[in-house]
Amino acid sequence: MMSRRRLLGRLTAAAATGAAFHTLSNFLLADVSPAPRAGSLPAPIVLSRNENAYGPSEKVLAAMREAVSSGNRYPEVEHDLLVDKISAYHRVRPEQIVLGCGSSEILRTAAAAFLGPGKKLVQASPTCPLLGTCARSSGSDVVNVPLNKMYEHDLGAMLARADISTGLVYICNPNNPTGTLTPRKDIETFIEKLPASTMVLIDEAYHHFVSNTSTNASFLDRPLHDNRVMIARTFSKIYGLAGLRIGYVVTSPDVALRLAERGLQFGVGAVSAAAAAAALDDSEYVSMAAKRNANGRQEFMNQVNARMLRALDSQANFVMMKSPHPVNLVIDHLRKNNIVVAPPIPQMNKYIRVSLGTPADMLQFWRVWDLMPGQKMDM
Ligand code: PLP
Repeated sequence: MMSRRRLLGRLTAAAATGAAFHTLSNFLLADVSPAPRAGSLPAPIVLSRNENAYGPSEKVLAAMREAVSSGNRYPEVEHDLLVDKISAYHRVRPEQIVLGCGSSEILRTAAAAFLGPGKKLVQASPTCPLLGTCARSSGSDVVNVPLNKMYEHDLGAMLARADISTGLVYICNPNNPTGTLTPRKDIETFIEKLPASTMVLIDEAYHHFVSNTSTNASFLDRPLHDNRVMIARTFSKIYGLAGLRIGYVVTSPDVALRLAERGLQFGVGAVSAAAAAAALDDSEYVSMAAKRNANGRQEFMNQVNARMLRALDSQANFVMMKSPHPVNLVIDHLRKNNIVVAPPIPQMNKYIRVSLGTPADMLQFWRVWDLMPGQKMDM
């Protein structure tokens, strides 16, 4: 079987030869670290995947160690325990919850359930390309609607593109790659006006990093009670469990069933489920991680300002920064110095997306940034 790294290598080669290589590669390449150079450089500083650079809490690590001993059994008990925990946490019924191998699996099952030939996905541009990729492979049309001037979803324009054939609308809030938040009340009005048969997937992967959640309550903290709405969450970001591949969706019981039918029966592993359950319990860690991220984000903006650069005001654990130099050269310079940031984002080709790492990572990022030769480009 071809390894993932090898497959990615082939995709990269395809890009270099100008072959079709659109949003899928854009997302996947974010995962590619520079190949370690034998015996020379230390491990690369990966600021490309919007991970939690610090890892999970001690309590979660302990739960993982304990769960390993039941690794000989299929993870039925662990799934039930986790679903019960999520149900209590969000005050919803267990039948409303479906687990996935990362929220990626949730997006894939949503595409499988509500899209296909003759159906349309309406989404923002740029946004997280995962769902668009699944939509295309299911034979759907994908309608990309540019973000507005504030880099929020242009809900008026999205509504104008939604019709009876629109199986699904995707709202990533905060949005990846911009880190911007679309106001909740605008999304509510938008959903009311959508065709009755159009489903809405709200992706709250970065919700915990939002500074002021009182004006922008999550659709889980303040539900809409609309059967067309699905809310996806992941354990990959604030909880620091990206490597364990676990996420979930909360929706109506009927929709949950449709999604579950398209997922893997035992997709989420026992250790992942036990870790996620412990992570939900550890609210102290989540508040600390959110504060730490907010401080890191502020410090990043201080460094941006000190260099008279510009960046979008982020509500997530990454920042889109306008580059004074051609983006490919910047990414290349950073990579040569052992720092990986996200690959270029075609719709915002003067920006680089930088995930926030530890203070030491960021110190190194700015040190390397300042070494950059000054090829100016038109701003
Ligand atoms: N949704 C968004 C907005 C993302 O940025 C990502 C990954 O970075 C995902 C979903 C997928 O995350 P995971 O599959 O790790 O839960």
